[in-house]
Amino acid sequence: MLRLVLGGDALAGLASAMPAASIRLVVPWAGDEFEIPTWTGNEFLLADGRRPALRTFTPVDFDASTNQLTLDIVRHRGGEISQWAEAAHLGDAAAISGPGRGEAIDHDAHHYILLGDEPAIPAIRQMIDAIPDATRVTVHIETVSPDARLELPAHPRLSITWHNAEASAPPCSQIREAVRGLGIDDSTRVWAAGEAAAVQAIRKYLFNERSVPRRHTSIRGYWKVPR
Ligand SMILES: Cc1cc2nc3c(=O)[nH]c(=O)nc-3n(C[C@H](O)[C@H](O)[C@H](O)COP(=O)(O)OP(=O)(O)OC[C@H]3O[C@@H](n4cnc5c(N)ncnc54)[C@H](O)[C@@H]3O)c2cc1C
Repeated sequence: MLRLVLGGDALAGLASAMPAASIRLVVPWAGDEFEIPTWTGNEFLLADGRRPALRTFTPVDFDASTNQLTLDIVRHRGGEISQWAEAAHLGDAAAISGPGRGEAIDHDAHHYILLGDEPAIPAIRQMIDAIPDATRVTVHIETVSPDARLELPAHPRLSITWHNAEASAPPCSQIREAVRGLGIDDSTRVWAAGEAAAVQAIRKYLFNERSVPRRHTSIRGYWKVPR
């Protein structure tokens, strides 16, 4: 992961009070000049009608005194934004849209289960911070290599299991497997984010095989393997 700090007066007032919120980052396509896209009422478009390079990230921190926004971005091959961030220099232009609403923590829950892969780590950190001390928190995170493991915030009732992805297996296979072994009762809430098809399979499993009520889950596709 790399840490990207964006600054500018236009970011004033961006802060989101909720964990696992989102912003959209717009950068120039490789080789292009930066251009702020226009909102058509339906989507953002560039002047020539193309879609901008725009992706969603978790606002890790916003410093209202300097108008600086921190993002943690997974380095992965072929990513438009990942590559832009890798090569970015002080003064390079980008734009932010947002923030989008985050996760409302259910203070009546006795147990939170948080499942995710690398792009979910920034949101999982914020969720752990926001969950009350009395609530049990069980975290399962799958990473492609052990050095992608990052320190998570302290919590008095936290249990963390890191899984190594198998090179030959589809993304999030380990967390799909892990959820099958977890105790889930009526006071459990499940939050999961990761590769879209994998978290969709987790959603189906929870609803169909474990009869978990939809309102007790929050399951988000964060990225997609092209099909
Ligand atoms: C609400 C929300 C919050 C998010 N928060 C974060 C965050 O804080 N940090 C973060 O890094 N990501 C986060 N993501 C995921 C991020 O938006 C996607 O991973 C995005 O595709 C990255 O953009 P890119 O331009 O680098 O890659 P793209 O150009 O979109 O993708 C290029 C190729 O890379 C593959 N790819 C995309 N992401 C990954 C990945 N993580 N690992 C391996 N292959 C990948 C795609 O399948 C595609 O083949 C979040 C997504 C959502 C919806």
